[in-house]
Order: sequence, then structure tokens, then C-alpha cells
Amino acid sequence: MESELNIPSTVNDPHYRYKMPRIQTTIQGSGNGIKTNWVNLPDVSNALKVPVEYPIKFISRELGANTDIKPNSYLINGSHSAEDMQKLLDKFIKKYVLCPKCHLPEIHGKIKVGKKDIKSTCRSCGSTCKLDSAHDFAAYIKRNPPPYEEDDKVAGEKVAPEKEKEKEKKKKETKIDKELKKNIKECCLGLPDKIKDEEPIEKNIDEIKQFLAKYDFSLDLKFYCFTFGIIPTEIYTKSFEHRLPIIKHFIEKESDNNPDEALYNFLIGFQDLIFSRQKGKNKIYVPSVLYYLYDRDILSEDFWKDYLNGVVQKKYQSILNSTDGEKQLKESAKDFSDWIETGPYEGDEEEKKDKEKEKEEKENEKEKEKEKEKAEDEEENKKGKGKEKKKKNKKKKKAEEKEKEKEKEKLKQKEKKEEKEEKEEKEDKKEEKEDKKEDKKEEKEEKKEDKKEEEEIDIDGI
Ligand SMILES: [Zn+2]
Repeated sequence: MESELNIPSTVNDPHYRYKMPRIQTTIQGSGNGIKTNWVNLPDVSNALKVPVEYPIKFISRELGANTDIKPNSYLINGSHSAEDMQKLLDKFIKKYVLCPKCHLPEIHGKIKVGKKDIKSTCRSCGSTCKLDSAHDFAAYIKRNPPPYEEDDKVAGEKVAPEKEKEKEKKKKETKIDKELKKNIKECCLGLPDKIKDEEPIEKNIDEIKQFLAKYDFSLDLKFYCFTFGIIPTEIYTKSFEHRLPIIKHFIEKESDNNPDEALYNFLIGFQDLIFSRQKGKNKIYVPSVLYYLYDRDILSEDFWKDYLNGVVQKKYQSILNSTDGEKQLKESAKDFSDWIETGPYEGDEEEKKDKEKEKEEKENEKEKEKEKEKAEDEEENKKGKGKEKKKKNKKKKKAEEKEKEKEKEKLKQKEKKEEKEEKEEKEDKKEEKEDKKEDKKEEKEEKKEDKKEEEEIDIDGI
């Protein structure tokens, strides 16, 4: 049994960054005087960043048992298993430790107790929410409010970006030395030569694997460089079509079983890449790339939403992430995010499924017909009709089969054509939408462009 659990323990991710010790208890006394001693309560409270007595007070209310708290002795009347207590602790965590909006334990020091309500502000997503004021334990919180940290501004993009920037700079300076920087640059610039669009995908994958292995990067650096190398400048091309399965393979299979973390680092690479490549055309380029990733099941709706509200960033740390880059990517991706929000794909998906079903049914019918014919033939043979007739029948059957094959082929081609038209229509619509937007924003873009030019980050800027 692992000694550490996620906060709350119902989160299944083994790499989750919020951890707490598993509850440890001993049983004292016997009979009516039996008591449960929560041996490691201070460690658990410390991990949850709540006053030491909060968890035991909550659990005792849930159990309807009294507590006896002294230094180094945290007793609850009765005998209670650690597993039962863990379940109740998770309940406590969900009510009073996690942000109700983003479900991260980031409201510590930001719980404000009023006469009526208990409110929290989240350090991660910035939202202010009401906590459960109806539970018995709420009365205890009101009498014993947790310390409130007035000056510590809630983090997030909108608040204290200067402080954030400074912190980030320092982190980078300490962790990326000159040697590493040289290697990252070399890897980013060298990778494109390893990808040959005319060669089979498997061969490309091997070449890239071998090339990346030379650097022995950690997961974050590896996928950062991978993005730089593999996403082409132009995307409505065969080249990108060819590379999409390679991207999918690397994120799923070459990520040490952490596809989500790999994808996150892939996006960080993408953040920096769009600064140096498209120069002002990002509002078309970025949503299109993301659309392709989505279409090929590389990027999921849930993952993108988690990225937008900062959940992914909290989960996985990368020394290469920058708030500027993140902001730029989110801004450029607006069309894609809107599109995800309205979810137009579901209809398409259903249409697709219907079509597939129709096809299957047709095929089944054909199969049945064939079988029927076969059975009839056999019947005739049994009856011992002349050889001549058999031959004739065979010929007839062959001709019929040929005809059927032809029909099948026609149907296939028709379907292909329809699919193609559908795709083109979709792209046309997209382009139209983008064109409109472009027109509107052209002026604005131009003004921004000059400013951006100075700020642009290329690989040197790492
Ligand atoms: Zn939150």
C-alpha cells in the first residue's frame, strides 16, 4: 500500500502533484472507553494546508463521536478504521479544501468567513465561490476561521504578472544552463532534416526516435523540441497529413506512459514556435493546427478545456513554459476554443455513424442474397440437372458477381466523392469565417505587428 495519496484520494492520476499522507491510526483502550488515535493528523493537515484540528473535527461530526485533542494525541471516541476515515476525509477535502470551480486544492489562506457564507478565492483559476455553509462543520469554521492571507494576491494571468515573470525567469536561469540551451537549439533545428515526407511513416518514426535519443532529454524538453521539428510552416498540405500520425504515435507511445504530459509539453513547444514562424497570421494558423490535432484524436476537448483554465499547467511542471507564450497561444486559438465550446462536431459524428450503419446494412443484404443463390444452386445440383445447365449457371453467376463488384466500386467512389466535397465545404466555411475575421482585425493586427516584431521570441529567447 502506498503511503501517499492524491488530494483527494479519488483522483486516479499517479503523477498528480497534490499529495497527502495516508491516514495512520492506532486503537486505544477497550469496551466503552475504546478510542481511535489519529497518529499522523498534523502531517495530513499540513499537506492539506488547513489548521491541524480541522480534519478530525469534520470527521468526528460525520461519525457523531466526540474528540479529545491534546498535543501529540488526537483521539476520536470509538473504534474507526483508517479506510472509513479516509473516505470521510475525502468528503472534507471536496467541501473545504478544493476550489469548487477547478477542483484543485488552491484555496488555502483564501477562505473568508462571513456571518452567513464561507467564501473562497482560488489561487489557481481565480474564481470566488461559496463553500458549504449548511454542514455542521461550517459552524466550527465560523467560530475558528482559518488564517486569511491578505497580501498574497491570487495568482493567475490577470494578477501580478510581473511577479510571475520574475519567478519564471529565475527558474529558467537556474535550471537551463548554457550547455542545455545549446542542445535544445541544436535539437529543434536538426529534427526537420530527419523527417522525410516521401518516406513511410514507420521509417520516419525510427529516425526521429534515434535522433532524439542522442540528447537524452527529460520528457518536457523532448516534446518541446519535437514540436519545433515536426509542425510545418504550411498546414493545408500533404506534408502535414503525413506527419499527423507521427505526432500521434510519439504522444501516445514515446511518452513514458504520460501522453497528457507529453501533449502539454508539445503545446509549450507550439507556443514558442508560433512566435517565430507565422508572424501575425497566427489567428488562422493556430486554430487550424489545433483543429487537425483534434480531428486526429491527438487533442481532446477535455484536455483543451483543462489547458484553457490552467488545470493542466498545475498538474505538470515545465521549465520551458512561459506565461507570455501561453497567453499568445490562447489568444490565437480563440476560434478553435469557441468552436470547441459550441461543439459542432457531435452532429457530424452522428451523421458519420449513420452513414456507416447504412453501408453495413447494404453489405449484409448482399451477403444474404449471395448465400441464397448458393443454396439454390446446390439444390439444383442435387436434383441432378444436366452439366450443361450447371455451366450456364456458373457463367451467369460470374457475370452477376462482376456486375455487383462494379456497383460496389461505384458506390465506394460516390462515397469518397461525397466525403471530399463535405471536407472541402467545411474548409471553405472555415476560410470564409477566418477571412471575415481577418478583415476586421487587419488594422489592429498591423498595429500590433510592429510591437510584436520586437518582442518575438525565437529559439534564442529560451
Ligand atoms: Zn479554482
